[in-house]
Amino acid sequence: SIPVICIDGPSASGKGTVASAVAQQLGYHLLDSGALYRITGLAATRAGIPIDAEHASQIAALISQMDIQFGADQRVRLDGEDISLAIRSEEAGTNASLVSTLPAVRQALVQAQHDFRQLPGLVADGRDMGTVIFPLAPLKVYLTASAAKRAERRYKQLIEKGIPATIADLRADLEARDARDMNRATAPLHAAQDAFLLDNSEMSVDNAVAQVLSWWEK
Ligand code: C5P
Repeated sequence: SIPVICIDGPSASGKGTVASAVAQQLGYHLLDSGALYRITGLAATRAGIPIDAEHASQIAALISQMDIQFGADQRVRLDGEDISLAIRSEEAGTNASLVSTLPAVRQALVQAQHDFRQLPGLVADGRDMGTVIFPLAPLKVYLTASAAKRAERRYKQLIEKGIPATIADLRADLEARDARDMNRATAPLHAAQDAFLLDNSEMSVDNAVAQVLSWWEK
């Protein structure tokens, strides 16, 4: 069967960076599942649909109509439009977190996520890769870092891109998102029972990647 490596954890824990480096090293495909929730949030906002439980089925219906393309050039397109930047704003993150609480939306995204599992293998980055989407995956990693470190890393990323931000606001935003992810009724964020825990607060990206690869080789 086609192998899947799951990398789950809270916002800004370094999942995206570690997952894409592991995928590159192994020549595997990459699933950025958060991007699917971000795109769904953007599509709902653009369609003028309020993101709440009352409109869940309307938002889920949008998903079947979305034409999403993840390019080899790292760009993401929705119905042909490059939305790579639009889905990375803090607002898009908050909208993603809101749509992700809706069970109908989560259900509507299951098949799209399974479709990423192709030869020679997949690295899947998200919140419920190991617990819900790929429960039989042979390697599951739960990647964490302290809230202080996560806020600091996100701050550096934004400042490098010239986007103004404050560490205090970012930390408050991360903690609100974590609370929503951990307390929602459907697929709440938690480590799978058979996941390896990796706290990378005091670890370089290279060392975190090396740790995941060494677990994979065993
Ligand atoms: O990882 P990223 O920050 O891009 O994810 C955006 C939001 O999508 C998260 O805050 C989370 O609420 C949601 N999400 C999810 N399940 C996933 C991936 C992301 O609920 N597998």
